Amino acid sequence: MAGAAGAVESVAAAALRAVLQRVAQAAERAGRSAGQVRVVAVSKTKPVSLLREVYDAGQRHFGENYVQEMLDKAPQLPPDIKWHFIGHLQSNKAKTIVSGVPNLYMVETVDSSRIANYLNKAVAAVGRPPLRVLVQVNTSGEESKHGVEPAACVDLVRHVTSQCPNLSFAGLMTIGMPDYSSRPENFEALARCRAEVCEQLGLNPEDLELSMGMSNDFEQAVEMGSTNVRVGSTIFGARDYSKS
Ligand SMILES: *Cc1c(COP(=O)(O)O)cnc(C)c1O
Repeated sequence: MAGAAGAVESVAAAALRAVLQRVAQAAERAGRSAGQVRVVAVSKTKPVSLLREVYDAGQRHFGENYVQEMLDKAPQLPPDIKWHFIGHLQSNKAKTIVSGVPNLYMVETVDSSRIANYLNKAVAAVGRPPLRVLVQVNTSGEESKHGVEPAACVDLVRHVTSQCPNLSFAGLMTIGMPDYSSRPENFEALARCRAEVCEQLGLNPEDLELSMGMSNDFEQAVEMGSTNVRVGSTIFGARDYSKS
């Protein structure tokens, strides 16, 4: 398909465009505007050349799961990319990621006061502006999933907002479950956590993000109030872990 300049649109650029369109339609169905939903292009395992194609198509928010992979990719790509860290962060990597990725926009996976403290210290040491963080909530109750229990969410948010001046608390994140039937419950559970946090800590729900929705459920997530969908394989194609 020809773009405005007559260039051939790449497969990934076309896929991005389709995702943005589907997000806009889902937002409209829910009486929201597309501008209220950010799409994070989740690029784990994908080569820098492919990220570049998606960047050239206008995408600026990218998400990575592994510290080393983000450290490798970030310097090879334009500095106006806004990186989201969406993997499990170990405390001994907090300093590494904050100092190694100056354009780190958000860490979506804060799930303990310990990791919040490490990030807070790392930001102070580097001297960058406050780092946006989301508190990750385990809404599915699965043992294997990271994230705080919903009942512990308020306490962790209180810790971040009262003890971590170099972190900017921006909202909540859930991964949820792959099982189709349980998705609405996960999304509802995250929205309930936000309501509880707001009530207990006197915050405005409209100021707080809900990061929920991935390739297979982002439209439903948008309809249920997501402000941040994390879409990987639908933009970049299926991941092949066997090659690495
Ligand atoms: C990999 C990943 C995604 C994207 O998954 P897709 O199904 O490829 O869209 C989103 N969020 C997290 C936390 C991930 O690890």
